[in-house]
Amino acid sequence: MSKKITKSSSAKSGKFPKASGAKASKLVYSFGGGKADGDGSQKSLLGGKGANLAEMTRIDLPVPPGFTITTDVCTYYYDNKRTYQKELQGQIETAVARMEKLLNKGFGDKNKPLLVAVRSGARDSMPGMMDTILNLGLNDETVVALAKLSNNERFAYDCYRRFIQMYGDVVLGVQKAQGEDHEPFETVIEELKSELFPGEEHVEDTRLDAKGQKELVRRFKKLIKDRTGKEFPHNPWEQLKGAVGAVFGSWMNDRAMVYRRKYNIPHEWGTAVNIQAMVFGNTGDNSGSGVAFTRDPASGEKVFYGEFLINAQGEDVVAGVRTPEPVAKLQAIMPGPFKALDRVRGILEKHFKDMQDFEFTIEEGKLFMLQTRNGKRTGLAAIRIAVEMVKEKLIVPETAVERVPADSLAHVLAPIFDLKAIKDGLFLTKGLPAGPGAASGKIYLNADRAEEAAARGEKVLLVRIETSPEDLRGMIAAEGILTARGGVSSHAALVARQMGKVCVCGAGDLIVNYEQKTVTVKGNTYKEGKDFLSIDGTSGEVYAGQIKTAPSEVVQVLIAKTLDGKKSYTYQCFDQLMKWSDKFRRLQIRANADQPDQTLNAIAFGGQGIGLCRTEHMFFEGDRIDAVREMIIAETKEDRAKAIAKLLPFQKGDFIGLFKALKGLPATIRFLDPPLHEFLPHEEHQMRDLAESLGVSAEKVHARVSSLHESNPMLGHRGCRLGIVYPELSEMQARAVFEAAAEVQKMGIKVKPEIMIPLVGFPKELKLQLEIVHSVAKKVAAEKKVKFDYLVGTMIEIPRAALVADDIAKDAQFFSFGTNDLTQTALGMSRDDSGSFLPYYQEVEIVKNNPFASIDQQGVGKLMKLAIEGGRATRPEIKLGICGEHGGDPSSIKFCHDIGLTYVSCSPFRVPVARLAAAQAALAEKAAAKTKKK
Ligand code: ADP
Ligand code: MG
Ligand code: MG
Repeated sequence: MSKKITKSSSAKSGKFPKASGAKASKLVYSFGGGKADGDGSQKSLLGGKGANLAEMTRIDLPVPPGFTITTDVCTYYYDNKRTYQKELQGQIETAVARMEKLLNKGFGDKNKPLLVAVRSGARDSMPGMMDTILNLGLNDETVVALAKLSNNERFAYDCYRRFIQMYGDVVLGVQKAQGEDHEPFETVIEELKSELFPGEEHVEDTRLDAKGQKELVRRFKKLIKDRTGKEFPHNPWEQLKGAVGAVFGSWMNDRAMVYRRKYNIPHEWGTAVNIQAMVFGNTGDNSGSGVAFTRDPASGEKVFYGEFLINAQGEDVVAGVRTPEPVAKLQAIMPGPFKALDRVRGILEKHFKDMQDFEFTIEEGKLFMLQTRNGKRTGLAAIRIAVEMVKEKLIVPETAVERVPADSLAHVLAPIFDLKAIKDGLFLTKGLPAGPGAASGKIYLNADRAEEAAARGEKVLLVRIETSPEDLRGMIAAEGILTARGGVSSHAALVARQMGKVCVCGAGDLIVNYEQKTVTVKGNTYKEGKDFLSIDGTSGEVYAGQIKTAPSEVVQVLIAKTLDGKKSYTYQCFDQLMKWSDKFRRLQIRANADQPDQTLNAIAFGGQGIGLCRTEHMFFEGDRIDAVREMIIAETKEDRAKAIAKLLPFQKGDFIGLFKALKGLPATIRFLDPPLHEFLPHEEHQMRDLAESLGVSAEKVHARVSSLHESNPMLGHRGCRLGIVYPELSEMQARAVFEAAAEVQKMGIKVKPEIMIPLVGFPKELKLQLEIVHSVAKKVAAEKKVKFDYLVGTMIEIPRAALVADDIAKDAQFFSFGTNDLTQTALGMSRDDSGSFLPYYQEVEIVKNNPFASIDQQGVGKLMKLAIEGGRATRPEIKLGICGEHGGDPSSIKFCHDIGLTYVSCSPFRVPVARLAAAQAALAEKAAAKTKKK
């Protein structure tokens, strides 16, 4: 017979401060005993964790009962001076009563105490970003009951001291003060250990017996009293109120905000709080806890993957304090629970239809599920899993395309270590492969210093004993992350994979000395800020120095052609995904390329033409710069014409190469754009050399250089303004294009030039330039007796052009949005000077994203729409493209799709990303249309 449950303390003293005037609504959602108020679809209300706890409960997985306080409460909390809706208290009491009934325990009960975990849970999972409090409900009385019930006094006091420690840290703010190197609670533990085991180093926690744990409890309480002036709260309701408030409070802590900014999670979303009955993985060798993935999150392979620790509470696994065992080993140690776990693995994938990352605890041989979510994965794994799940008929191709983050394709194209260089390199040690790819960098042992070094332009490798969420900024800045402790599901690994960072963790041979700022491995010592290390996140290997990298498999197949596609499974998955993308997308993808080899790369990656050929890049090659300079220095029209005539064959040769590579695909060729001074030397001795080679006086060169000096070159004599003042320049460029076209056409290759005039603001500018182009075209056609299939158009890159687009379209057959300059001119902000304030602008959310990376849709985007409207009014069939840096940015690509552009153009290596992003934009549009219909 069970004893009657009596609560040791009333709920009154721990009430949630309420605000007046709120209307009644459901703020608390219970789950447990096979039933749940909520379900997996309610992630915005219940948070990701809460929604999936409900969902797992519904499909009869073994989830400890509990309840979720909704994100609405968080929103309310911040809107109302950190108070709660008045009905919250009652709803929580009802939910707690439900748990008590299900488990036959009582919150604060002196005989059968109900202990709970208080867990945060935002809509999107934010790994390690907020703090979890375990074993809540323990106090001097309930701990005695727990000891009796478990017949394990050591365990009970271990739980108690952990609870005081977490609560003290998270709720009461007993944390390391500035200048302190260690957490105050850890210091207390170390002190006690050195008293109990004098002379010994690295004493494991497990050696502290019940007496030792009790002593810790005493000292922890004293520490709290000393630091806060307050007693540790014994009333479980007061504990609960404090913990819930701390979770809501942590939504606005620094590391959570950094994370949200990085991943564009709005601050308004808020977090939910989950209160769940505790299960114990730390009762002895028949218990444990772990984290597992239904497939390998690094490679995507369909294997059971994960880790566990015997006799541990889950925090030990994710915190990376002890290095855990691979989950496969569980089979031998606990065959029963392993079987149950493997069955759950199958159920999860069938139900959620995606790779799951789940947390479990085994208490005395019984399995409990604590969390599941769609697993973070590397780009490589994302592609493989999506493609294989289609083969397994778990998902359709549309879902596969939607699911792979477009940017992750960039990871698959990222370099790996050069095999030969690796053989010659000094191998140091091996850790766990946690984020694939190859990275070399100067080592830094602290996140702040790593961030500073990266800001100075150094390549940085962040090396830590283990990482914690505070290291996030340093991880963002680093090329790669190397840790001495922690497994593949540690914080470092999780975050690295998501960011696409190279990561090796748990490299136990590393001795990281924070004081000396050195890393020692096998007798070799490396210094922070001075020495380089290299890590291979695919194999886990660590090397000394900087190691040469080699292209990825996909690049080897498509570009270097050193690998047969049939022999690369990675390539095959990539290719399949690209084929599906091409089926779904409407936008065409072109590349920005100036040279034949770049053009060939772009086509190999699936590019459908050149969206921007910057002709000035051709001016810098070989010794042709001499002719360019001669042209600029020339004083008379005749002299200038002579110099320009020298340039013609070069430029023509370039275009022939380009047209041949394109094999009939279109090429947008932009006429000379940058201010002339960019081509002139500025150093005294260089100017003298130039004068000599041109046979003019040094003074003359000097005078010309200073006459070309501009105080604001971005807004100076550049773009079409050059061709207007020096028409012979445009004439030469047009002739080079058409003579090249004529020659290549005669080889039987189609040629489709699209001549583009930059920086037009006045319709007359375009008109004057096009007169030149058309008259040259006519002349060359007559001379060579050929016909040309060409277009003429303009860039829209200053606001005036967008405003008078209808007029401009009278002459322009196409518009290409030069969003780099359009952003600079629309915002009145120079990209190269924005570094000093733009990061701060993002921090205080004046802008959500860097407008030079992602189109400012409200401002610049509005100008684009205006231009499209004007252009189409005059010329309905007008061709529309974008050639700014934004053409390779997935969210900008979506915008371009939505406003109806014909194509986007980006750098050759971004073409695959753009193909996928374009397909996703098309699928999103379809989905939106469908929901609208409903
Ligand atoms: P995070 O969002 O940082 O992963 P969690 O809420 O999942 O935080 O909690 C961290 C760890 O605490 C979990 O991995 C789990 O092992 C442990 N934990 C959470 N809830 C419980 C519970 N009800 N019983 C036992 N352990 C728990
Ligand atoms: Mg978790
Ligand atoms: Mg421009």
